[in-house]
Amino acid sequence: MLTSDQNVPQPGESPDMPEVKLACPRATKNVRLRLGAEAQLDFPPVLNGIDYLLSVVTHLQPDTGGTPRDLKYAVLHLQAAAEVLLKARLIREHWSLVFRDLDTATHESFLQASFDSCTTATAVKRLRNIAGVTISEKDARALKDLAETRNALQHYGLTHNARALEARAAKVLDFLLGFLAEEALIPAASEHEADAWAHAAEYDLDMVRDGVTAIQSFVTRRMNRLRGNELKDAEDRTVYCLACQQPALLLGDDDGGGICHFCTGRWPARDLIEVYGIEAGWDSPGRYCPNCSCPTLIDGMSFADGKDTLYCTSCHTRPVPADLGRCNGCGRHWPTNAAHPDTGQILCPKCQGKSAEKKTRSTSH
Ligand SMILES: [Zn+2]
Ligand SMILES: [Zn+2]
Ligand SMILES: [Zn+2]
Repeated sequence: MLTSDQNVPQPGESPDMPEVKLACPRATKNVRLRLGAEAQLDFPPVLNGIDYLLSVVTHLQPDTGGTPRDLKYAVLHLQAAAEVLLKARLIREHWSLVFRDLDTATHESFLQASFDSCTTATAVKRLRNIAGVTISEKDARALKDLAETRNALQHYGLTHNARALEARAAKVLDFLLGFLAEEALIPAASEHEADAWAHAAEYDLDMVRDGVTAIQSFVTRRMNRLRGNELKDAEDRTVYCLACQQPALLLGDDDGGGICHFCTGRWPARDLIEVYGIEAGWDSPGRYCPNCSCPTLIDGMSFADGKDTLYCTSCHTRPVPADLGRCNGCGRHWPTNAAHPDTGQILCPKCQGKSAEKKTRSTSH
């Protein structure tokens, strides 16, 4: 479940059986437990996950962390928390669901924790498809981004900028807190045996919530300041940044790209076209613009003014999807008001030219 660097086993302990530290002031003393697999299967990992969350907010808060090293551990521990908590819910559905390959699942290897466990992306998929857990596309993507950031960090070191990481981490933290509550991963405190655990978990969770609020309020404060300054009266030219996911990417560069004032990331037009093209599943990145005919039309960009439009990086216009249809000849976006009054067919000038040529040829024969 956890990788070896996330949970180093103590001598005599089996790997992958999460250690739980109870730091509840209501418990008589700090108790270290390493729980047998016979015990409640999902609760020990849950406490372990909450412990990771606590570490994340400590590393992210400006007064207790915030250095590049802190950010590194915030990302590693957030990914560990996500993995542990998602899998705790999967185990509750059925223990075999945390195996990478379901065909190799045996109860014995599960109890001994000697198996390859599934990826976060697979865990999300199984939670949705098998356990019927609702995870929005946005949350699933935030989890995927986090897993990718964590892998990049392991291999190449920290390349993302600090503010982008903080804003993204706050979103995943927010999701995990909701997930813990909605999926009732912490047993009620009255269930006798789980009493001390539940108290410890609730105590730690309170600290996590405070931490998340502090991080979110940092994000909010910064966004408010930007809205009053750099982004003032520019909502129609401001889009959500793909790195920090804040509505702070101000378009305005000559090439149609722009700079994100929240995370300071620069987005040249060609990168925007490529990323949105991939997201839309297009075979070629940009579509032809009905205004300037350049292949630089982007779909799926969210503007800060909330208006649903496309965007062309060449002519900087924002065509409204409701006004556009597809050319019956070449499939490019073309205004619906250009439809032929009798046939209702939309043809762009190029295709109109072609069809006229065809007609002339057929009549001349
Ligand atoms: Zn950004
Ligand atoms: Zn254009
Ligand atoms: Zn056409």
